[in-house]
Amino acid sequence: MSADRIVVCGAGAVGASVAWFLARRGAEPLIVDRARPGAAASGKAAGFLALDWCLGTPLDGLMRASFGLHAEIADELGADRIGYRRTDALMVASADDGDVDGYARLDRPAWLDGNVAVHQVIGDRTTTAQVNPHALTTALVEDAVGRGATLRTGVVEGVDLDPGTGAVTGVIVDGEATPAAVVVLALGPWTSQAQRWMALPQVFGSRGASVVLAADVPGQVVFSEFLTGDGQRTQLEIYPRADGTVYVNGLSEHDSLPEDPDGIAPITASGDELHRRAGVHSTALRDAEIVARGSCYRPLTVDGIPLIGPVPDVPGAYLATAHASWGICNAPATGRMVAEMVLDGASRSLDAAPFALSRLPMGRIAV
Ligand SMILES: Cc1cc2nc3c(=O)[nH]c(=O)nc-3n(C[C@H](O)[C@H](O)[C@H](O)COP(=O)(O)OP(=O)(O)OC[C@H]3O[C@@H](n4cnc5c(N)ncnc54)[C@H](O)[C@@H]3O)c2cc1C
Repeated sequence: MSADRIVVCGAGAVGASVAWFLARRGAEPLIVDRARPGAAASGKAAGFLALDWCLGTPLDGLMRASFGLHAEIADELGADRIGYRRTDALMVASADDGDVDGYARLDRPAWLDGNVAVHQVIGDRTTTAQVNPHALTTALVEDAVGRGATLRTGVVEGVDLDPGTGAVTGVIVDGEATPAAVVVLALGPWTSQAQRWMALPQVFGSRGASVVLAADVPGQVVFSEFLTGDGQRTQLEIYPRADGTVYVNGLSEHDSLPEDPDGIAPITASGDELHRRAGVHSTALRDAEIVARGSCYRPLTVDGIPLIGPVPDVPGAYLATAHASWGICNAPATGRMVAEMVLDGASRSLDAAPFALSRLPMGRIAV
């Protein structure tokens, strides 16, 4: 194996996008994941995409660029293959008890026949869209492999550094040294493990539950301010998909992150409660069968902004992580930026300064 090889660690949506943009430029990266593409949050997320929902924040450019790139990826890989389609998005109010009609500003669609009041259209087919995140992540990796990348199943256990320069010389996978000149760490919430190998900013994981229902309803995404019978003000998100299913999320869970994404067991009570709350909105959802339950961790920084760029003082090491609730949406422009950093020496398509690692305290875990 070549010592100038590029190794992308983690095959979530972010690592898959990095590998895809590298492969399109003729690089032949090695992609290493301990499980499989989309094994973690990138296979369990809703897959909602927005154009301008981060207006006025450092994420605005990344999101706008990614929204356009998703449409280009759908053209190239096939919209049906990745579950891509434009959607409308509605803001509604709903409650277990009491009349919500006072919140109604708009007529409600026929399928929202429960205790629901529609008060705003917050997205339309020019500003909001969706993908099946597992299908997208898998397709990006498959296409990258078709262009010369290699996918390897294995646990990244360390990064070898030159003792003199501190530069990357290899990656340790399943105890075996693999020569490399460039390593891109796209490990999502597991990035914290890489603090044993080099000084990095802290990345946290925030766990959320989801459920997928078998129901064929119109392509209108619903963001609901939902008041529970015991007085909790909650948010429920309902995402109809083109394949005749509906993805629902909106419950936080609290548990420590297991080492292996396959060790994240869905909590039955969370899925049942999401189903129950969705059913308050629509009899089609109330009567639907649960076809999948999920739990996954959003990767987060303390300032809520992703980490995209070179690791200070470690030539050849890059980080692409911590996209919080927008990792599917913002993966493509992230992948393109990192490919430019690696192949051209700097991001040409977007200003990388807001995402620089040096803005946050960096630390290394002693082993
Ligand atoms: C309930 C929920 C709904 C969401 N909905 C949306 C949405 O609608 N739109 C949106 O844009 N975002 C959404 N998100 C956020 C999104 O899921 C994440 O931001 C995104 O998936 C993170 O992708 P990633 O590639 O950085 O990490 P991950 O998907 O976590 O991938 C990390 C990969 O690294 C691998 N790995 C870990 N450790 C090792 C190791 N030592 N060696 C090798 N491989 C390793 C894992 O196996 C995994 O495949 C949602 C998140 C949650 C929790």
